[in-house]
Amino acid sequence: MASNQQSSIPSVDRGPADETTPETALETARRQLGRAASHIEIDAAALERLKHPAKVHEVTVPLEREDGSVEVFTGYRAQHDSVRGPYKGGLRYHPEVTRDECVGLSMWMTWKCAVMDLPFGGAKGGIIVDPKSLTDDEKERLTRRFTHEIRDVIGPTKDIPAPDMGTDPATMAWLMDAYSMQEGETIPGVVTGKPPVVGGSYGREEAPGRSVAIVTRETCEYYDYPLEETTVAVQGFGSVGASAARLLEEWGATVVAVSDVNGAVYDPAGIDVAAIPSHDEEPEAVTSYAAAADVTRLSNAELLELDVDVLVPAAIGNVITADNAEAVAADIVVEGANGPTTFAADTILDERGVHVVPDILANAGGVTVSYFEWLQDINRRQWTLERVHEELEAEMIDAWSHLREEVERRGVSWRDAAYIVALSRVGEAHEVRGLWP
Ligand code: GLU
Repeated sequence: MASNQQSSIPSVDRGPADETTPETALETARRQLGRAASHIEIDAAALERLKHPAKVHEVTVPLEREDGSVEVFTGYRAQHDSVRGPYKGGLRYHPEVTRDECVGLSMWMTWKCAVMDLPFGGAKGGIIVDPKSLTDDEKERLTRRFTHEIRDVIGPTKDIPAPDMGTDPATMAWLMDAYSMQEGETIPGVVTGKPPVVGGSYGREEAPGRSVAIVTRETCEYYDYPLEETTVAVQGFGSVGASAARLLEEWGATVVAVSDVNGAVYDPAGIDVAAIPSHDEEPEAVTSYAAAADVTRLSNAELLELDVDVLVPAAIGNVITADNAEAVAADIVVEGANGPTTFAADTILDERGVHVVPDILANAGGVTVSYFEWLQDINRRQWTLERVHEELEAEMIDAWSHLREEVERRGVSWRDAAYIVALSRVGEAHEVRGLWP
């Protein structure tokens, strides 16, 4: 990229060696940005801009509880960048949601959409609430009121929310309904991840797990691990982990360990993953499987250190840190969750020769099928599940192959390759559009 003023960020940032308090998503996101910028020529003004979110909306959301009392919750919508298209990203209901977390996650959405070459920017939002403490009725009213509070800043050409931790297709249907009622017309394209009956896409729920499985298959093939001889451990049996594990098993891999919040099960001969309902379908299913089958029980931390070919962390962020990165025994790590590896841990894994396929590629099937959903909503025409699978497969192989070329050409890690591709696309768009006014 041509520019007379170039970035001068040093490339030697290893992240903090002591991670008693793991870094925030925002700190990790900023470090990754600096590292990617050191590999390419990017306009310094564009880089400076990208270190900051364009806007962060903070709202308070009053909710009348079932007992008649009123509780006020805090919600956010962080909008990082929209140079390539409308802001796009999930809504998280979780007690540990913070402003900074939303900003960091919104930056990752900018890169995720750019890696997939989707015409979207990055956003993320959430409410500080434990969704398990709400009745369905309370969750619905909270969602409707939150939608009202952020109504001016979302829309099918402005910012399009989607499910994330603690939210699901039902939440998206309430959001779509609340927005549409206020606008006076049905606007399905304001949100993705809706049930198909109201304009959602077939295959959207399973899509992040499907993309994890596709890139795992491609990466295994590339490094000469035939799936039939490959062992896999999956942390997290929510929608991402369960879908990925089921597909990998179907395609011939041996899934030797899975886990949920209650712990892990391990069987070197292989777990019958098809027999275990996902955490969303039946929260205690992994524990019940452990009680019924002759398998070893492990902690979630022990699962991460199993001697397997492929490790898929698909639960929460910051699980592979400077403290356990040396002990990760897998040869390939495919990130199903957003941000499961801290910056310092990533450096350690890279130095040890572990191939880490980053979240912004691996779980990008979610936002890619969100894009298909948005297209279907605009055209008022639903695609078949078969078509969604075919197009997702093509998009994932395309993006994976593009990163592979960068990995080979520059001799960098998969994560660096992903950031280089994303930052080049976003940086170039900024440079061409210029700074206004
Ligand atoms: N929350 C998902 C993610 O982190 C989906 C975002 C979307 O579909 O907009 O990728």
